[in-house]
Amino acid sequence: MREYATEAIVLRTAPMGEWDITASLFTEQLGRIDARAIGGKRIHSKFAQHLNPLNRVLVRLVQKNATTLADVVTEARFNGTARATQKALMALALINAIILPGNSDTRLWRYVKDALSSATLAPQEILKLLGHDPSRASCVRCRGRDVRSFLPEDQVFLCNSCNLKFPDKGILLIQ
Ligand SMILES: [Zn+2]
Repeated sequence: MREYATEAIVLRTAPMGEWDITASLFTEQLGRIDARAIGGKRIHSKFAQHLNPLNRVLVRLVQKNATTLADVVTEARFNGTARATQKALMALALINAIILPGNSDTRLWRYVKDALSSATLAPQEILKLLGHDPSRASCVRCRGRDVRSFLPEDQVFLCNSCNLKFPDKGILLIQ
């Protein structure tokens, strides 16, 4: 059994079983990590108010076979316009889809932490840092340069009209 205390960004949460929540977290040293918040769905859970996407939190994690969330407290909440919030959520969805669990990336961590504080987090920057610069990309179907979405599974870009014709459900908007 190992225990970690670390800063983390909440990427997303999902229900798990009847009462629990799985939180997908992004950290500097552990990279992306899924942690189970036991009883997280209960109304008076100590986790509930802290596990919101875009929150920067301090967590204590216990790693056995799986990773369990032992404690969480919010350090900073996102404070931006509706458009800034929308872009930041797109950026977090990309991190969640592209970064494999356990892969740490200090440059990406620093960018995400700073850009969340200044409410300037942008999906294009995330892609650039991960080696998929959208400004140099073209649509995988029509070769158009105005790319609007990214398909993480195939690591390809799509333009606005092609992404409507693409059957895949894993498409993520990038602007
Ligand atoms: Zn296209």
